[in-house]
This record gives sequence, structure tokens and C-alpha cells, in this order.
Amino acid sequence: MEISITSLNKIYPNGNQALTNVDLEIKNGMFGLLGPNGAGKTTLMRILVTLMKPTSGSIIVNGMDLDRNRKAIRAVMGYLPQDFRFFSKLSTWEFLDYVAALAGLKERKKRAHAVDEMLEKVGLFDVRDRQANKLSGGMKRRLGIAQALIGDPKIVIVDEPTTGLDPEERIRFRNLLSDMSQRDIIIILSTHIVGDISSACHQMALLDEGSLVFSGSPDELIDMAKGNVWQIKAIDSELEDIKSRYPVISTIPSDNGWDVEVVAKKLDGYPGTAVDPNLEHAYVNFMEFKLGRTWHGEAV
Ligand code: ADP
Repeated sequence: MEISITSLNKIYPNGNQALTNVDLEIKNGMFGLLGPNGAGKTTLMRILVTLMKPTSGSIIVNGMDLDRNRKAIRAVMGYLPQDFRFFSKLSTWEFLDYVAALAGLKERKKRAHAVDEMLEKVGLFDVRDRQANKLSGGMKRRLGIAQALIGDPKIVIVDEPTTGLDPEERIRFRNLLSDMSQRDIIIILSTHIVGDISSACHQMALLDEGSLVFSGSPDELIDMAKGNVWQIKAIDSELEDIKSRYPVISTIPSDNGWDVEVVAKKLDGYPGTAVDPNLEHAYVNFMEFKLGRTWHGEAV
């Protein structure tokens, strides 16, 4: 699978420009779309799943223009929106069976088998007879995942993947998706949480205020932060000053005070040890130094 997005713009009727000249190539595997709230992620996802048209620009899926082949492309897509809800009184099993029929699984026996299998996969088989809208929050989210994955989609889009999931469920969900991503499939995770971009995402992009500011591998983003992450051993009275000088990533209590991780090109006045950056550091580093955000009062 291949998705090719060119010069995509979206201006809402009230004049809000949610996307500005977005160019993006997405290939097989897991793709992480990261950006703060309001960056335009949901807008881009809704355009991709054909729920909304862009103001201008094009999207080509495997050589087919999305706008001219909406039905065919929709048939190979699975989508889990941020605010997925059930309005039906169907049981969990019936609901998934219904979605599977819509996804093109016509033959009853085969469909029933696929439904059973998917309910096993997401851990809902035991509650298959329970009314779908009476499931717990986490279970509803899992049923949402199941309905996005059923019918062998080639493109799966998940908006804010970990919303409503507890830590154990997050791991289960991540494993489920990375198992699936071994095939000819594109899985797009759209999120404002850096931790959702799992190690299985080999491709990622950063959206900010409607513009694509980075696209590449997580490792490339991490490389940019090398030499810019420090751990400072601080005492109570120094904490406020450190917070006002640098973007602080974490503050952990230690023997004589605090271990504070900061992003900075150099530390003036505080002795620090260099830290190997992770993706979270890399994201803050990018926002701070590449986008010139005035995190602590000075443009960089
Ligand atoms: P994200 O998903 O990254 O939080 P959105 O795509 O929801 O971002 O929003 C991007 C921008 O578009 C925001 O400034 C938001 O206020 C605006 N926006 C979203 N939906 C609408 C709408 N229906 N009408 C007008 N503006 C909108």
C-alpha cells in the first residue's frame, strides 16, 4: 500500500485554515502522526477516510485518486474515530457481525468465524452476548478497534489510540497493531501523546498549526536531539530557576533533591550529565529549537 498526499489544504467554512500545503508519503507499516491539539490531525484523518473533502490538493492511494474512487478506497479502510460510540442495542457479537457485513464479508459462516476470531483477539469473546453500549469504557474502545480491523482492511486509521485504555490494555493494543503491521497494510496512529508512537512505527510525521514540520523516522528525530538533553542534580531552591530557564522533561526525587531532565543546547551555571535522547526528548527538542518556540521567553 502507498498513500501519497500532495499540497493538501483545508479551510473550514468559518475561515479556519486547518491544513496548509501538506505533502506526505506513507508506505506499508505503522505510521505515527504526532502533533499538539489543534494541529490538524483529525482534519487530515477525516479527509483520508473520505468523511470530508479537502479545499485543494490531492491524495493518491495505490495509484488511485481518492476523490474519484471514494467507494473502492473506503472498502479497504478501517477507521477508529476519537469519539467512537454505539447507539445500537445490539449485543457485542451482533454489532461486530453487522460491521463485518458492511465491510464486505457476505458469507454468513465465514463472517461468524471472522467475528469470533476478532473478539478473541481483542479479548471480548467472553462478553460477546453483552449489549455493546453496556460494555465498560475500555471494552468499548476495544470493540472500536475490532470494528476498525474486521474485514481485512488495507489501511487502518486510529485517532488518539490510547484514549480510555489502561496500561495493560495499551500494551495489548500495541501488540495487536504491530502483529497486523507485518502485512501489506498501512496503519496510521494519530495522536498528541508521544508514547503512542511505539517502537513499531518506522515512519512518522509532525503536524503543527496545520503544517507538516517533520516527516521521517523516529530515529532521525532522535538524532536531532543528540547533545541537547541533560540531567541536572538539583536541590529544592534551584528547581524554579531551572524550570524558568529550560524546558523540563521530567523531575524525579533523588537522595539529596531532584534529578531534572532538561532540553538545552548548553547549560549555563548548572553542572549536568548528557542523556541519550528518547522520542519524548526529541519531540520537545524539535518544538523548542527547530520551530523556535519561546518556551522560556527567548526565541531560539
Ligand atoms: P487536532 O486533531 O490535531 O487536535 P483538528 O483537526 O481537530 O486538530 O483541528 C485543527 C484546527 O481546525 C483547529 O484550529 C480547530 O479549531 C479547527 N477546526 C476543526 N474542526 C473545525 C470545524 N468543523 N470548523 C472550524 N474549524 C475547525
